[in-house]
Amino acid sequence: MPEDRGVIPETERTSLRRAKARGRHQRRVIHDILDEVLICQVGFTDDGTTFVLPSTFVRIDDRLYLHGALGNRMLRVVATGAEVCISATVLDGLVLARSAFHHSMNYRSVMVIGTGRKVEDLNEKRAALVATVEHMAVGRSADARQPTPTELRTTLVVSIPIDEASAKIRVGGPIDEPDDLELPIWAGQIPLTLAAGSPIPEPDLPGGTSTPPYAIRYPDRTRSDQEL
Ligand SMILES: Cc1cc2nc3c(=O)[nH]c(=O)nc-3n(C[C@H](O)[C@H](O)[C@H](O)COP(=O)(O)OP(=O)(O)OC[C@H]3O[C@@H](n4cnc5c(N)ncnc54)[C@H](O)[C@@H]3O)c2cc1C
Repeated sequence: MPEDRGVIPETERTSLRRAKARGRHQRRVIHDILDEVLICQVGFTDDGTTFVLPSTFVRIDDRLYLHGALGNRMLRVVATGAEVCISATVLDGLVLARSAFHHSMNYRSVMVIGTGRKVEDLNEKRAALVATVEHMAVGRSADARQPTPTELRTTLVVSIPIDEASAKIRVGGPIDEPDDLELPIWAGQIPLTLAAGSPIPEPDLPGGTSTPPYAIRYPDRTRSDQEL
């Protein structure tokens, strides 16, 4: 049987145990969440201690890319081919139930387990850095000064495949106990979104430097009509 490219095969490590119905393994759902989230958490083990650190990242096709300084511990560990666990979450809302017990949150989160590698190929490295800037603001990479050879050399880029991964999604209101439904206690959802404020220009911009459209109206990064 040919592999179903639409689905990332479940493994023992990415098969949901609790609330299994909230699990998703469709590649597109996992990619959409990763593309919407601006930061991820990278779990790695160095010298017997496990660390989890926040990081910028970007997805290109079926790979995640992280970047930073050459001396960065997290990246150095990933570059050695160590296994890492990366998670990223969009928080969509608070779910307030009648009972304290059933309070919850609406979210879309992804977890990826993979073995890292250092990106040596210059074209791949450049593409990853361009995509990282674009992940922040679409159109920004064409406006920004491109990295010098020294900047490229002193930036460590690592890559992790997205081929062992899961998504978990909660939507909807509280799931209260039938006996609690008559209680005169407000229950419902408080939607949450990440909102951009007004751009703050640097005070030393040369006169006549115009504010780019992506800064004037930073796009709403909340959910598209993706299949949940
Ligand atoms: C939104 C966001 C985006 C980031 N993006 C990147 C990125 O793209 N690339 C990158 O290299 N780094 C990024 N960072 C920084 C990253 O989280 C670490 O601070 C960095 O990797 C530390 O590297 P290090 O080798 O100097 O420190 P380490 O040797 O790894 O850290 C030493 C100790 O410093 C403390 N520490 C380090 N980082 C943090 C932290 N973030 N919060 C609290 N304590 C900390 C911990 O106690 C840690 O054990 C980002 C941070 C944030 C919050």
